Amino acid sequence: MEDLQVDLPLGGLFSRAELNILAGITLDLPAGQTLGLVGESGSGKTTLARAILGLQSSTGSLAFEGRPLATSADFRAIRRRTALMFQDAAASLSPRMNVAEAVTEPLVIHKAMEGAKRRDKAAELLAEVGLPADMGARFPHELSGGQARRVGVARSLALKPALVIADEPTAGLDVSVQADILNLMADLKARHGLSYLIITHNLALIRHVADRIAVLYLGRLVETGPTARIFASPAHPYTKSLIAAEPKPDPRKRRVDLAIKGEIPGVLRRPRACAFHTRCPLVQDICRTEEPVLRTIAPGRQARCHLIDATN
Ligand code: SF4
Repeated sequence: MEDLQVDLPLGGLFSRAELNILAGITLDLPAGQTLGLVGESGSGKTTLARAILGLQSSTGSLAFEGRPLATSADFRAIRRRTALMFQDAAASLSPRMNVAEAVTEPLVIHKAMEGAKRRDKAAELLAEVGLPADMGARFPHELSGGQARRVGVARSLALKPALVIADEPTAGLDVSVQADILNLMADLKARHGLSYLIITHNLALIRHVADRIAVLYLGRLVETGPTARIFASPAHPYTKSLIAAEPKPDPRKRRVDLAIKGEIPGVLRRPRACAFHTRCPLVQDICRTEEPVLRTIAPGRQARCHLIDATN
């Protein structure tokens, strides 16, 4: 995507005013890689995922497998190559469908396979995610959290996608089940050459699965780069704060000096100039008057901060 922007109507009678949600988002995801999109709630992560899938109108340019995406027909054409993994896997499954029907429903929607073959396909998809074929007869309320998440993964694989967009794929799961799901996602990536866009505020997850990270704050990219290098030496104060706030085995080792204060202000009250200045522990006068630009700070790395040379 290049220079992607999303504006939403503010509403109100006769009002043509729009609220800017995302701006200047330029990112790419090479085939077979995982991009972690990180930020607090309200940073614009989900809106960005919806724009990628054509579910949210946007300006700028998008392309998938070398093919430009401009019209709704373009997005329809790639829908079989993309899949969504939902955060609340159990709630995303219809309570009236058994597991076999749920995992093969995308084949029905896309008229991709006749009924007789779908039962075998359901067993095959369940095997892919480590579930026995007889699980197909169960209903969503009979599944554990981990099983429901696996069913969600099986469903997302039904149409053999190239790109899976996973929204908080391990939220609400026990730590050991989280590890199982991440291992499963890694296996599937290796087996099928999948690319993942993982949307999360869970940095520990991203550290283990993403090749690259993009950090969003109030609809702007503030830092991008390879995962290992960002964790070893985060450049932007927001990224530093997020990493400093990660739970540590020894809480005394947490870096309190970089802790961000308060809540993320909503997009309706986006601060002028640097949007992070109201919470930044390193704020300077210039941050309140001039918006920093996203610039390259090292090969493959970008950050948006006036002080980047001093902080990096
Ligand atoms: Fe903090 Fe200023 Fe950098 Fe914004 S530009 S992140 S307020 S130091």
